[in-house]
Amino acid sequence: MDVAIIGGGAAGYFSALSVKENFRDANVVIFEKTRFSLAKVKISGGGRCNVTNGNTSISTLAAGYPRGKTLMKRALRTFNTKHTMEWFESRGVPLFIQDDMRVFPVSQDSGSIVNCLLDQAEAQGIICEFWSGIETIAQKGKQLELSFSRQDLPPRSFDKVIIASGGSPRSEGLEWIEKLGHEIVKPVPSLFTFNMPDEAIVELTGVAVDPVLVSIPGTSLKTRGPLLITHWGFSGPAILKLSAFGARIFNEKDYNFDMRVNWLDQTNHELVLGHLNDLVAEHARKLLPNIRPFGLPDRLWRYLLQKSGLPQTKKWSELGNKGLNKLVTVLTNDSYSVSGKTGFKDEFVTCGGVSLDSIDGKSMQSKVCENLYFAGEILDIDGITGGYNFQAAWTTAFIAGKLN
Ligand SMILES: Cc1cc2nc3c(=O)[nH]c(=O)nc-3n(C[C@H](O)[C@H](O)[C@H](O)COP(=O)(O)OP(=O)(O)OC[C@H]3O[C@@H](n4cnc5c(N)ncnc54)[C@H](O)[C@@H]3O)c2cc1C
Repeated sequence: MDVAIIGGGAAGYFSALSVKENFRDANVVIFEKTRFSLAKVKISGGGRCNVTNGNTSISTLAAGYPRGKTLMKRALRTFNTKHTMEWFESRGVPLFIQDDMRVFPVSQDSGSIVNCLLDQAEAQGIICEFWSGIETIAQKGKQLELSFSRQDLPPRSFDKVIIASGGSPRSEGLEWIEKLGHEIVKPVPSLFTFNMPDEAIVELTGVAVDPVLVSIPGTSLKTRGPLLITHWGFSGPAILKLSAFGARIFNEKDYNFDMRVNWLDQTNHELVLGHLNDLVAEHARKLLPNIRPFGLPDRLWRYLLQKSGLPQTKKWSELGNKGLNKLVTVLTNDSYSVSGKTGFKDEFVTCGGVSLDSIDGKSMQSKVCENLYFAGEILDIDGITGGYNFQAAWTTAFIAGKLN
């Protein structure tokens, strides 16, 4: 059996290895359009490669996929984060789980993952042909004929083909797949941080609060987690998660929207008011900036006082009901305008791609083109940051490689 894999990334290599595991005698060739394999793995996780997530609950993991949750919930039963860890560790790459559940090689070097995949491929006789971008696929009887963008390469036919060509920020890059009859969901970026050029809070660069609750008025978008103030706006896990769940909505708004921050992760206003009243009783004669409620960072507390129009010279006893209500609002429903986005350098991903309606989620086989399979980011599956995106690549590639 001749099998072609289109794309020499994480999903391409992993599906090639899965094919060899299932069909020892298959001839497997990877076609890679550039001169490098596994380029994204190399730069991933800031050069450390966050290879998967340490969580093992399938429903918790599936909830980390804004697109593809249902498919991933089933697929993770076949190959999940535990399998990924076992796979790499049994092949000589020890891994460790960080406190935030992200999993990295003990070497702290993505090169360990790259070399492991390359060594395994070599040992299995898998060939990778570089400068071999695929331009079209045509059905020729039971076989699939691949044509190359390079004129000097003649078309070649295969019994089975797995497309693992990765995310594409532009629909144009997906036309060759659409032409075969697959539905393409418009690709837009996911995993980005928020630019807030008109907000004075950017002066608090470096301040982090954990956890906060962030939300977008007029939508059901809401996430919880650490927030980091940067010199351009907001970043940190709560924001990256919000960018993932709202990727399409934010794109429609051209990345101009209002957001709310609940600095206390506390939606019970009575409780907040009660705590502030306790502070009034306890510290009546102290100045507002000198007593920080809820352990808020000093710079943030002073900023929020200023934003509420409460002078730093005021004492707690002088707050009054109006002042207390102002504080409750700024602490639990603080409003900001976002204007633009910045890519998160450690990880970004495409939302959209080949519609999951065009594939059989049990096998990853195309519903419209026999013997054609998909794996990785080319599919309309993407996750939050934390190893979820590589896990989607390993899982879908493992299943596609069964060639069911
Ligand atoms: C900077 C950065 C850091 C990241 N860090 C992490 C992380 O730490 N953890 C995590 O889980 N995720 C991370 N991600 C996301 C993760 O890298 C991707 O989700 C994952 O690489 C997708 O794998 P893939 O094989 O589907 O696609 P890709 O890795 O994009 O591979 C696709 C390959 O196909 C090739 N190709 C494309 N079109 C063709 C064609 N027509 N013919 C032949 N070849 C073709 C491309 O050149 C590429 O080599 C990161 C992403 C980025 C950009």
